[in-house]
Amino acid sequence: MTKCPPTIALILIGAPGSGKGTQAKLLQERLGFIHISTGDLLREHIKCDSSLGRQAKIYMDKGHLVPDSLVLGMLFERIAKPDCASGYILDGFPRTIAQAEALETFLRDKTVLIVVNLHLKDEQLIERLLHRVSCERCGTPYHLLYAPPRVQGVCDRCQGALKPRSDDNEVTVRERLCVYRAQTAPLVAFYEAHESIHTIDCSADPSAVMAQILALIPT
Ligand code: AMP
Repeated sequence: MTKCPPTIALILIGAPGSGKGTQAKLLQERLGFIHISTGDLLREHIKCDSSLGRQAKIYMDKGHLVPDSLVLGMLFERIAKPDCASGYILDGFPRTIAQAEALETFLRDKTVLIVVNLHLKDEQLIERLLHRVSCERCGTPYHLLYAPPRVQGVCDRCQGALKPRSDDNEVTVRERLCVYRAQTAPLVAFYEAHESIHTIDCSADPSAVMAQILALIPT
């Protein structure tokens, strides 16, 4: 009898603006793994005006983390879907040690975790976030100075409208970076102790960063 290969969960840790979403999209195309962004899942709930979305929005608008009582069930329900069986990319989860522990308990050794820490200096993070727009329809990200669309305000891929995120303003960006330092950065030491973690300098071109991540994926 042939044994199913284990599921691979690629965890992207990194401050806001480090390029987790960009890398997750590129890797999804390359590997066929499902891209799961807890931020996107929460924004979908806000768009649908669900009760979860209305509660989450209060925290997101301030740049604070949404409580685990709202995030964990939503994420685990998504991971359990059959399309995640061969592999998935977690973008923005876990964001605290408590979330990382909850994930380990949920997965119970059934999954190979590959943890990547995307590193970038604070000034570069802020510069990226304040010039970031993405397509409302397909989510393709752009940087208005370094990777602008061909036509201003219009997505190259699907002609959708390009918009900045409501939490990409200077006040909320600074708060999100503080929250990252206090609550998410300790995950690096956590994963050093529990699994291995690979730190990658993500100031390079996105395709060069992706090549370094791809080299970590078992074939
Ligand atoms: P992101 O799209 O990953 O930058 O997330 C946007 C916002 O969604 C964050 O600033 C948080 O308010 C919320 N959020 C996303 N993922 C999580 C998570 N794993 N835990 C708590 N809040 C989250």
